[in-house]
Amino acid sequence: MKIGIIGAGLSGLVAGRVLAAAGHDVIVFEKSRGYGGRMATRRIDTDSDFRIDHGTPYMTGTDEAFRTFLGELEEKGLITHWSDRLSCYTDGQILPELPGRDPQPMYVAPDGMNSIGKYLGRRLDIYFEEKVGGITNIGGSRTKKSPWMINSASINVFEADAVIIATPAIQAYGLIATAQDEFDLRKMITVLDDISYSSTISLMAGYGERIPAEWKAILCDHPVISWICNEGSKRDFSGDMNLVVHTTDKFAREMAESEDTARLESKILKELGNILGSWAARPEWLQSHFWRYHLPKKSLDLPFLESEDDLAPIALVGDYFHGRSMEAAYLSGLKLGNHWVEKFS
Ligand SMILES: Cc1cc2nc3c(=O)[nH]c(=O)nc-3n(C[C@H](O)[C@H](O)[C@H](O)COP(=O)(O)OP(=O)(O)OC[C@H]3O[C@@H](n4cnc5c(N)ncnc54)[C@H](O)[C@@H]3O)c2cc1C
Repeated sequence: MKIGIIGAGLSGLVAGRVLAAAGHDVIVFEKSRGYGGRMATRRIDTDSDFRIDHGTPYMTGTDEAFRTFLGELEEKGLITHWSDRLSCYTDGQILPELPGRDPQPMYVAPDGMNSIGKYLGRRLDIYFEEKVGGITNIGGSRTKKSPWMINSASINVFEADAVIIATPAIQAYGLIATAQDEFDLRKMITVLDDISYSSTISLMAGYGERIPAEWKAILCDHPVISWICNEGSKRDFSGDMNLVVHTTDKFAREMAESEDTARLESKILKELGNILGSWAARPEWLQSHFWRYHLPKKSLDLPFLESEDDLAPIALVGDYFHGRSMEAAYLSGLKLGNHWVEKFS
């Protein structure tokens, strides 16, 4: 079966890997230039290997299948144990650990979180910078024609026997809406209607000097800053202090309206200086990225969603199924992949 997957994030790549291993012909369409979606890494200096995770910072999980996957990544040298505890900022002080939270092994990717996407996608046929603008169910008998057309935002059209949409729910909604004359798809849209996402701004800041810190990451109880990560604790590029800061959803949404990047960055830096000390407000270099879809605010009590039409199969996977996390995204892609291997063998 020829399967078109929209989105090369964790859920889409895992579904693709399972289906391709079972002999299906898988093509992945990805609107950005690289693998991983929100498992994102930015190369700060194009002349060197200096990179920073500006999307999800680390991996952790409790499900057995996900832990097996973490074991596979660790064996391949793609992830390494980082910490069992997070520091926290509350009532104006930094505490070495979050009170009331059990220790939990957390893993980071020394080559960047997107190296996990590269690994998962290495045997898949992926079209990068190919944004899908819509899908069309051309129906009819499968013996004559593929039931789906995947229309890229440029002029390309791809035929497929089945489609998997592996994007955040709101983008999936937009894609399904392009084919919504189908009764089955209208039902899927109704389910998606309920899902919204928090946003965040990732601020990346480098200080050009070694600054000692006793913490690897700090979870913050603060109106502007929710997370501070010491990237040097993941990979020691130069020994200099490099931070990634995530803002709260409220701050990100208010600031997304203003569009004044310099004002926004200086507001975050001022708060960062208040938390860590005045040095933190004076980085040598600075970059920022707005994440409209950070994490789903709620999840669906299903592993994935699929249409009932087996002649024109279509399914949705992602982190908004059974979770709101990377682990949820992985399990959603895995479970749909296994289900379709069995169903369409
Ligand atoms: C800053 C940040 C911090 C995070 N922190 C954590 C954390 O601490 N713990 C945790 O568990 N999770 C965290 N997450 C969330 C985690 O990264 C996601 O849950 C997970 O990576 C989602 O994977 P996914 O496959 O569902 O979606 P995505 O990774 O979003 O992948 C979807 C892909 O689809 C592509 N796409 C979208 N529309 C189209 C289109 N029309 N055509 C083609 N391609 C398209 C996108 O470019 C993207 O590559 C964080 C995320 C961010 C951004």
